Amino acid sequence: MMIEFVGSDEVFRARREKLVKSLVEEGILKSEEVIRAMLSVPREEFVPPRYRELAYLDTPLSIGYGQTISAPHMVAIMTEALKVSRGNKVLEIGTGSGYQAAIIAEIVKPEGHVWTIEIVPELAKFAEENLRRTGYSDYVSVIIGDGSRGYEEAAPYDRIIVTAAAPEVPKPLISQLREGGRIVIPIGDMYVQILKIIEKRGGTLHVEDSVPCVFVPLVGEYGFKKDLWHDG
Ligand code: SAH
Repeated sequence: MMIEFVGSDEVFRARREKLVKSLVEEGILKSEEVIRAMLSVPREEFVPPRYRELAYLDTPLSIGYGQTISAPHMVAIMTEALKVSRGNKVLEIGTGSGYQAAIIAEIVKPEGHVWTIEIVPELAKFAEENLRRTGYSDYVSVIIGDGSRGYEEAAPYDRIIVTAAAPEVPKPLISQLREGGRIVIPIGDMYVQILKIIEKRGGTLHVEDSVPCVFVPLVGEYGFKKDLWHDG
């Protein structure tokens, strides 16, 4: 019966390979490490069970609590921009499903580590379960808290990635980044942002604009204030 093959590991692997191939053809995926990571991490394990069949559509999907797992092309763009390598210490703000953290862990392991901060406790638990099931728990620490303040405990970081929209670069992130380090962060208003690639060289910040993007808002001390949310 055909239905037996729907959702099998083999079917998902084939869909994953097809998606990665098209991201390579579009020129979005370029480096060997990021391609390998996107071929390795099973996105179907990071979406709510009812969306498993949609895991390889190149689109964000709801993970509940008004939040989303980013589209694969956005994960690819951000991971390429981060220029992460084996052994790096990486801080992620906005764990969500844990998928982006797993992609980075796949590149930095086994010597490197990812610290990822999530403000919604239920999502931190969801991500932790996803990371455990897929074998990334040893390389990723999920922390519940306000990531707009960074995470001083494991600083300084080689790389910092913010996967929520910020009004500006939160100050603590700049001080927790090591000299020569790099931050990838969507900066703008609550509805549309520009992905910024920031390097800390000689104590100063060098900022480069990447693509326009749409992320859910960063909340917390250095994020958007909830009482100011309104449409238009
Ligand atoms: N990287 C995620 C997608 C992130 S969606 C993935 O791969 O699935 C953005 C996430 O940022 C949401 O889960 C939201 O709850 C979280 N968030 C928003 N503001 C935050 C803050 N100040 N600190 C930590 N997490 C925050």
